[in-house]
Amino acid sequence: MTVVPIRQPIDGRRRPMFIGGLWVDAASGQTFETRNPATGEVIATVPRGGRQDIERAVAAARNAFVGPWSRFKPHERQKLLLRIADLFERHWEEICISDTTDMGLPIARARGNANRVLGMLRYYAGMATALHGETIENSLPGDIVSFTRKEPVGVVGAIIPWNAPTAASVWKIGPALATGCTVVLKPSEEAPLTPLLIAELMAEAGVPDGVVNVVTGTGAEAGAPLAEHMGVDKIVFTGSTLTGQSIVRASAGNLKRVSLELGGKSPVIVCADADLERAVPVAAMSVFANSGQICIAGSRLFVARSIHDEFVERLSAYAASLRIGNGIDPETEIGPLISQRQLDRVEGYLRAGSEEGARLVAGGTRLSDGAFAAGNFIAPTVFAGVSDTMRIAREEIFGPVISALPFDTLDEAVRRANDTPYGLAAGVFTRDLATAHQLSRRLQAGSVWVNTYHAIDPAVPFGGYKMSGYGREGGGEHLGEYLNTKGVFIRID
Ligand code: NAD
Repeated sequence: MTVVPIRQPIDGRRRPMFIGGLWVDAASGQTFETRNPATGEVIATVPRGGRQDIERAVAAARNAFVGPWSRFKPHERQKLLLRIADLFERHWEEICISDTTDMGLPIARARGNANRVLGMLRYYAGMATALHGETIENSLPGDIVSFTRKEPVGVVGAIIPWNAPTAASVWKIGPALATGCTVVLKPSEEAPLTPLLIAELMAEAGVPDGVVNVVTGTGAEAGAPLAEHMGVDKIVFTGSTLTGQSIVRASAGNLKRVSLELGGKSPVIVCADADLERAVPVAAMSVFANSGQICIAGSRLFVARSIHDEFVERLSAYAASLRIGNGIDPETEIGPLISQRQLDRVEGYLRAGSEEGARLVAGGTRLSDGAFAAGNFIAPTVFAGVSDTMRIAREEIFGPVISALPFDTLDEAVRRANDTPYGLAAGVFTRDLATAHQLSRRLQAGSVWVNTYHAIDPAVPFGGYKMSGYGREGGGEHLGEYLNTKGVFIRID
């Protein structure tokens, strides 16, 4: 793929943010640095947006919502989304480089996400012309026609984490454009650059001023004012369960609608009849991909006791074979963690695992020699002899750490798998069709994958059970989250 340079409102390392169609600094004039997590190098400074900037962005989004954007017909919004998808396709390599340098995602993996992200944009484009209410027969006296209308909820505040800036931005902005909403996006302070690039591409595609705004800044200074803003009609949030809870509290002022994609501690159950050739690499990458910084990481690996030792041995060999390094190298399979803070956090869990009596069978250390010295690298880690009560088996680590737990019966595996406050995803490996169906029914998770993992499609809803959140992204339900339903009665006799 080739890099196609685009119009750059950005000068060197200073990147302004995007409000009301203008590239602007923070009202305070303050900035913060963003670093390449593989090298520690500062790659840009961006505005440290705050309450005043959120005010300005919400006002711009409101003006756009009631302005010409409200008269865009569905087919015009469709054309716009298709143009955005085409521009993304042309600039895909640039988007990948941005994600790789800002948050460490291996470029091979970033490139591999093209179909998913472009597919999402084109799916929303299709949905833009498929929105409709219903005519409903009523039992009222007289001659009254009743029907429903679907109307955009209005100004949407979108708050996203660092671990998938491109997909997370598109998952928030795409449905807003399809339904006629406007957006104020607050990227993670750890990875703000791709969302800014996305704003640039959207403007180039012809998204009207104020329809998409990006305010960079911290959670406390920019995220919280957005979550509590009385002029915001809906918040879509992806991030930790703890922050999700504070978003819900902040939303109470105007009872804005909220959808939450939160954390997880997802189980993967490997049955005795599983195809190990397939199960070992897929189970490994269910956690090691993106250095474990994935909400759906299959970090609790329940393995049938009869195959447990062999499985752990093969898994450990696989972990040790993975190529770790700067994600910009196309051969790299495992990149760095996002920050020193995240590195400290994951190292804390490595210590906790050993202190609580788990047996370290692969990895378990920070990599700090030579080219690794300036980055935040952790070797893919496998713990065996883990019990359900250990912290590494209960808490979301958000690092490349798997805990293997043997089981004796499927009933026991399901009970233990469901014994968590989370319910984002689950995996099953079996050759038996009945087991596949039974477990996919009994596991309490928003997504269940059998003999695969990470399968996400724009047309299939994704989201959490329990403390992994509510609301769905993907599928028809997703657009419903951006729409109000109005019942209309017209007396015609
Ligand atoms: P985080 O909750 O710390 O931050 C997420 C976003 O919220 C950031 O933009 C941050 O600036 C902002 N924020 C922080 N405090 C805020 C506040 N008080 N008010 C408003 N905004 C605030 O999460 P993170 O550490 O960036 O990301 C990791 C977490 O995200 C993990 O728990 C992971 O499981 C979760 N995640 C979930 C999904 C999913 O789809 N379910 C996807 C990716 C990540």
